[in-house]
Amino acid sequence: MPTNPAVVNYAQEKGSVEIREIARPIIGEEDVLLEVANVGVCGSDLHQWTSSHSWKVNYPVVLGHEFGGHIVETGARVKNWKTGDRVVSETAAVIDPDNPMSRQGLYNLDPTRKGFGYGVNGAMTRYVSVPQRCLHRVPDSLSFQQACLTEPCCVAYNAVAMNSKIKPGDRVIVIGPGTIGILCAAVAKLCGGDVAVLGLEADEPRLAVARKYGCATFKGDASAWAKEQDGMGADLIIDAAGASITLKTAMDLVRPNGQITKVGWGPQPLGFSLDPLVQKNITLQGSFSHHWLIWEKVIALLASGSLDVKPIIGGVWPITQWHEAFEKMHAGEIVKSVLTPV
Ligand SMILES: [Zn+2]
Repeated sequence: MPTNPAVVNYAQEKGSVEIREIARPIIGEEDVLLEVANVGVCGSDLHQWTSSHSWKVNYPVVLGHEFGGHIVETGARVKNWKTGDRVVSETAAVIDPDNPMSRQGLYNLDPTRKGFGYGVNGAMTRYVSVPQRCLHRVPDSLSFQQACLTEPCCVAYNAVAMNSKIKPGDRVIVIGPGTIGILCAAVAKLCGGDVAVLGLEADEPRLAVARKYGCATFKGDASAWAKEQDGMGADLIIDAAGASITLKTAMDLVRPNGQITKVGWGPQPLGFSLDPLVQKNITLQGSFSHHWLIWEKVIALLASGSLDVKPIIGGVWPITQWHEAFEKMHAGEIVKSVLTPV
């Protein structure tokens, strides 16, 4: 049987990622076989590589959940999709359609959901089997190097446009200049916010990317900017850093009656009091993943150019050079690595 190279995460131990040859997947009746054109490297791929993740992984698994490509085969019961179609795929590869959350369209919140790249084989390889319900059409005008980043844009759209209240002129501070943070900042700009991105001294290369989106940037402290208008603080804080401790910073920066939306996560426990949350009457909102409507909105924004992912793309590597692509992102030299299957 012909095989293709894949970036495989084979065990829990730190560093357990290597190129392995895998067989072309056999698709089910409601699946399509997608020939991957490009796949983005996500912070969660890095977390699995460095074993700093907090979710259950079904080892061995092919990494990668941010992808797009052409359909090359369709299952017997696939409707509305054909060979040659340009598509991107959502990440919820396995859901229980009868789960109460799925029944109301919030299948991203079905606790039994299994995603590409940790629950089932992902897209850092040539071929991936995808359920037809995960598919969205990509217009010809949108390249796959950009379209493969629809997924992190959807995470940002859900956090900012769906789960946060934001009005034109609101002061918004995004903590953490990773992919999700910068895309959250870009969506907050689209919503009319006056946006700043907060990072650390070492984050300068990524803060420079945030400035390309018209955001102010700060290293270490943004409290003067937060209080610049009336001394009260920012209307909205988007916490997109991968550590719990940043919630403390968010509580300091937010104005009374403001909102904190937490989209970044890290398994470390909190070591501080949540009293400011009460005293300042703050709304604390979590935001997880995305669903069908968000994908349609984001593809339209990408196709029109209103949302541009080109500034975040730090390079494109063949999957066989995954290590360099992962390292550059991990070191914070670049915001986003994109891979091409070989
Ligand atoms: Zn991702």
